Amino acid sequence: MNYYVMTLFPEFITNAMNESIMGRAIKKNIISVEAVNIRDFAQNSYRQVDDYIYGGGSGMLMQAEPVWLAYQNIIKRTGTKNTRVLYMSPQGRTFNQSYAQALSKNENIIFLCGHYEGIDERVIEMINPCEVSLGDFVLTGGELPAMTIMDAVTRLIPGVLGHDDSSLYETFYNDLLEYPQYTRPPVFEGRAVPQELLSGNHKLIEKWRLEQSIERTRKRRPDLYEKYMNSQKH
Ligand code: SAM
Repeated sequence: MNYYVMTLFPEFITNAMNESIMGRAIKKNIISVEAVNIRDFAQNSYRQVDDYIYGGGSGMLMQAEPVWLAYQNIIKRTGTKNTRVLYMSPQGRTFNQSYAQALSKNENIIFLCGHYEGIDERVIEMINPCEVSLGDFVLTGGELPAMTIMDAVTRLIPGVLGHDDSSLYETFYNDLLEYPQYTRPPVFEGRAVPQELLSGNHKLIEKWRLEQSIERTRKRRPDLYEKYMNSQKH
């Protein structure tokens, strides 16, 4: 998987992505991350990429031209086949685990990160990306959403996590939240690990985990619980 991040803050991306599991996935050549500095495509000596907004209003807007040139630079190299272009935007469809699953099947993902008040609408129309939101809140830029999506997608790619099934039976698998988990010691501050988990009986452990998942989902996420119960009827 090759990620290209169009941004005004390339170091924000490269510094964070070289750490931990993402950094290891880069070293293992499972993923690559290229931060493309939109400012490098500014057509003026001040490298200015933003301007006042037509019609007035506070703040500045990213100009169309440097974004368009940066995008063309990338797409010339990737081609459009097996390439997804995502514009990070609070107005887009909300990102979730099943979207991460779908994205993990691509060969290239190009992220467009806005800043200031956003980006001139004309270049959004020209690129025609999928607009993706992290949730109903407004951030200062698209870099954190892009990194969040890269993280969620990368851990689904075979070979990235220690055990390939570690990402399979997690929260949102089957519309259920994950069951509670424990590690040593068996008793901490008077709180014991549930007996079922110490029994060595795999059937019993599996049953206990499923019951806990269902109960946890019912209490915390009634919307998911309803989906899960409906899926069990078929
Ligand atoms: N003026 C825009 C609006 O009201 O829709 C918000 C612009 S925001 C301050 C600057 C940039 O941050 C956006 O262009 C987008 O790239 C990114 N951003 C902010 N909130 C986001 C969210 N919830 N999900 C994804 N990207 C977001």
